[in-house]
Amino acid sequence: MTVWDDLVGQNRVREQLAAAAKDADALVTAVSDGKPLDQGSKMTHAWLFTGPPGSGRSTAARAFAAALQCTSPDRALGGAPGCGFCDGCHTSLIGTHADVQVIRTDLLSIGVKETRDLVRRAQLSPAVGRWQVIVMEDADRLTEGAGNVLLKAVEEPAPRTVWMLCAPSLEDVLPTIRSRCRHLTLSTPPVEAVADVLIRRDGVDPERAHSAARATQGHIGRARRLATDERARARRAAVLKVPLRVADVGGCLKAAQELIDTATDDAKQMAEEVDVKETEDLKAALGGVAGGRMPRGTAGAMKELEDKQKRRKTRTQRDSLDLALTELTGFYRDVLALQLGSRIAIANVDVQDSLDRIAESSSPAQTLRRIESVIACREAMDRNVAPLLAVEAMTMALRAG
Ligand SMILES: [Zn+2]
Repeated sequence: MTVWDDLVGQNRVREQLAAAAKDADALVTAVSDGKPLDQGSKMTHAWLFTGPPGSGRSTAARAFAAALQCTSPDRALGGAPGCGFCDGCHTSLIGTHADVQVIRTDLLSIGVKETRDLVRRAQLSPAVGRWQVIVMEDADRLTEGAGNVLLKAVEEPAPRTVWMLCAPSLEDVLPTIRSRCRHLTLSTPPVEAVADVLIRRDGVDPERAHSAARATQGHIGRARRLATDERARARRAAVLKVPLRVADVGGCLKAAQELIDTATDDAKQMAEEVDVKETEDLKAALGGVAGGRMPRGTAGAMKELEDKQKRRKTRTQRDSLDLALTELTGFYRDVLALQLGSRIAIANVDVQDSLDRIAESSSPAQTLRRIESVIACREAMDRNVAPLLAVEAMTMALRAG
């Protein structure tokens, strides 16, 4: 076992990161302590991981962070850092290392204030480890102002600080920032490799693992959820019935409403799990008593938390809808493959009957228009069109084809 084990099907990236970790290790151990990194080093202060959702951007960053904190004695004997066993590796991987901060926002954007706090922290020397590592999972969510704050930190990094930014593509990151990062591209891992991880690491039975990996087309996180979560399987089954339900206007409107309700339920469940405790914690911190009036001057803090919770609810609902749209696109892509007699492997083999029915009752041109209407729905939501309106427009367009 090593820190790289969860990085599925990314051999080239893995080699690059392992080489960087080795150079980084030499830097920390050598007498060159404190000197800036030179041009020839495979190690650098700012990294940008891009790749499609599910390809393992943050997994790669975390593995790299662990390798940088590795303290295995084998390193002295020429072994590579990243043993996976030592305290440095282990605590980095499970998220308790004092010098590895993983920033994962459940909000739609990362603002200036949060980024300033991060940058301040990044100026510090490592507390216990060898490097101060900051992994930002959603660098594409930085507002422009926040990006400019981050830019200064990336331009003039503290000697032992490493930034690891993750984003879907280069275009999602401010040009000024991405030009100062070393860029690594992850690709969608092969279905077989994903199934293998589910079997080996999560103990999923082989048949279910293969079916989940195929249905999610190499998206590890979604495959794992589908393989291990009954609710996720029920959701997917409901979404994949939508194409059969849009035969008349009533069916279209009903299907749209149900897609929205499901997303709203997800957001509500999340709120129940997280918000209540968060609110109680803040009340206690501000000196309130359960059920009683809050002390003077605390209204602002309570309002700030309420706003944050509201934004999080919006994002959860949006993420849930996004997933449904991804599944619908996958369905019609399979339909198109059948219609064109293409040799691409079908993703949704478990609903082969529905695929056949739609494929036989429509033309490839119609299928293409249907795929376009799903894409249009996502774009409309990006432009802040009310979700129900956007989804209704989509289901009506699916009917017309
Ligand atoms: Zn180690």
